[in-house]
Amino acid sequence: MMLEELRKQVSHYGKQMLADGLTRGTGGYISVRDPETGLICSTPSAVPYPEIEPETVLVTDLEGNIIEGTGKISSEWYVMSQVYKNRPDINALVHAHAKFCTVISALRIDLPAACFSLPIAGGPNVRCTAFHSFYSQDLADDIFDKMKDRKAVLMGNHGLLAGGNDLDEAYSVASTVEFCAEVFWMAKCAGEPVPLTDEEVEIQMADTKRYSSKARF
Ligand SMILES: [Zn+2]
Repeated sequence: MMLEELRKQVSHYGKQMLADGLTRGTGGYISVRDPETGLICSTPSAVPYPEIEPETVLVTDLEGNIIEGTGKISSEWYVMSQVYKNRPDINALVHAHAKFCTVISALRIDLPAACFSLPIAGGPNVRCTAFHSFYSQDLADDIFDKMKDRKAVLMGNHGLLAGGNDLDEAYSVASTVEFCAEVFWMAKCAGEPVPLTDEEVEIQMADTKRYSSKARF
């Protein structure tokens, strides 16, 4: 089996995403790029995560041609392809219909750094796109634009997309942004959240790097 280690990771994090309540049913996807070959390993479309084993994880090229694995490629393939082709810093993507990110995305607002850990996504906020249908190039273009200088983006009325240098980091960013969305929502229900200043965001970004690249919040 080709790219066995990466396919094990994709299978593992699919199950983890469900166990952590980060997504529902067959919603979302997990994908990772092999830095050597440039091939992409991703969860097949509409297959329950508990049923996705390493051998069923799809291996495709950047044009979406299936090389190994079983099932259909994700309906949001355009998004994966556009990000991988244009963001050398991103080698893994986690897309989740995460509840609190979807709540904020339904308000069509950018998620501010109301919690200290949000700057691990790369800046003072996580931006939100307009709504676009799954298969559209418009979705891919809008995501690419709003994800500039960031490792995450809210997809309008839809959910969350998070990226990282590897799958461990992408999953950590996804889980942290969802936690921050929950904190923001709860703070908003209780009063008016106070976001970090630009200077505080800079300090947090520097501190997070210094603390450990493996730190998880
Ligand atoms: Zn989706």
